[in-house]
Amino acid sequence: MTVAGAGALGLCIALGLARQGFAVVVRDPAPFGDNASGVAAGMLAPVFETALDPASAECFGLLMAARDLWPALADSIGLGLDRSGAAYYGEHIGVVAARLRALGVASGVYGDRVYTREDWRLSPTAAMAALRMAAGEAGVRFEATRVASPPDDGLLIVATGADSNDLAPELTLLTPVKGHILRYQGGPDIGPVIRGDGVYICPDPAGAIVGATMEHGVADRAVDARRVAGLRAMAEALLPDLADLKAAASTGVRAATPDGLPMVGWSRTPGVVLAVGARRNGWLLAPLVARTVAAYVAGEDPGPQAARLDPRRFDNKETGA
Ligand SMILES: Cc1cc2nc3c(=O)[nH]c(=O)nc-3n(C[C@H](O)[C@H](O)[C@H](O)COP(=O)(O)OP(=O)(O)OC[C@H]3O[C@@H](n4cnc5c(N)ncnc54)[C@H](O)[C@@H]3O)c2cc1C
Repeated sequence: MTVAGAGALGLCIALGLARQGFAVVVRDPAPFGDNASGVAAGMLAPVFETALDPASAECFGLLMAARDLWPALADSIGLGLDRSGAAYYGEHIGVVAARLRALGVASGVYGDRVYTREDWRLSPTAAMAALRMAAGEAGVRFEATRVASPPDDGLLIVATGADSNDLAPELTLLTPVKGHILRYQGGPDIGPVIRGDGVYICPDPAGAIVGATMEHGVADRAVDARRVAGLRAMAEALLPDLADLKAAASTGVRAATPDGLPMVGWSRTPGVVLAVGARRNGWLLAPLVARTVAAYVAGEDPGPQAARLDPRRFDNKETGA
């Protein structure tokens, strides 16, 4: 079978299928991380995504289920996870602390911040390299080509991110969401992710990472100086020491469905399985997406989260099907 796309989703899916004994080819014209997955901050953040992102407010159980699949996957590919946790500093500390308590999350208020150890992080570049290596060892073949049409026979798994293509009719439901992200030369190198209102700072040994804008309906990857200045201002208000440091800006384009959750499951096109639309949580969701796809392909029970991800939840709506 073919997996179109070698981002976080395509790589996790290919690895999972190959480990189940399926023969898998991954095709991607730009396979080495020039995609949303390579640009991302790598937060695995079910708690603060639920608490701070309105689109994820009802998704805590699903996001936690995805996060809980990461330790075994990371172990199996030799990838370290940063479990330093995350802390919110901002105007709404009382509201955020109450939300975390309502979710039943272990957390505490310490002075001007709410901290939880339940949000983690990975390095996207390290994760992509480890996934590729493990997939290759499991027998996955990689081809640097674009998939232009569904196959006449065999299965196609569409994990093409925000790309607009004709591989399945459901892809017309996706909206691009451009994101700017900054990589500082210096700043905090270890410790909890710092979350504010509309901005986060990830300590990183290679330099602090600051993200990210959410530019709905924008699919180009040009760096916009005004967006960069806005991000810098918000980050430096949280952590004034960043003001003296240089930062490199880059962009990536996420794909979003109408309800913010990915489409994972059979397409209306026979032989095509969808794994797209992970929006701002593709790294977090990738192992859950991979496990769900593997279950569909093997004819097994796709699990308790599958219905919320099933592309057919949009039938009779935007697609008119
Ligand atoms: C600035 C920013 C910060 C982010 N931070 C986080 C974070 O902290 N935590 C988190 O969980 N998520 C984060 N995300 C979201 C996450 O990066 C995405 O949800 C995730 O990377 C999507 O993975 P994907 O595999 O679906 O798509 P992509 O990574 O975009 O990969 C899709 C691949 O498909 C290939 N492709 C396209 N068309 C074809 C075709 N026709 N044939 C073959 N191949 C094709 C492309 O070349 C590409 O390599 C962030 C995103 C951005 C932009």
